[in-house]
Amino acid sequence: MSDAADLANDILERAMANRAPSPPLAPGVAGECDDCGRASPRLIGGRCAPCRDRRR
Ligand SMILES: [Zn+2]
Repeated sequence: MSDAADLANDILERAMANRAPSPPLAPGVAGECDDCGRASPRLIGGRCAPCRDRRR
C-alpha cells in the first residue's frame, strides 16, 4: 500500500531534481568550490560565494 506512495514520491523527487541546477549538491554545503577549488563552508551549486558573484 505504501508502494504507490513511494513511487509517487520518487517521481516527484525526480521532477524537482530536474529543476535544480545541480541535484547532487544541497544548497549551502561545505566543500571545495568547483570553480576555484578553494574550500568554502557554504557552497551553493558547488561554487563559493566569490565565484557565484563573479559569474552571475
Ligand atoms: Zn570559488
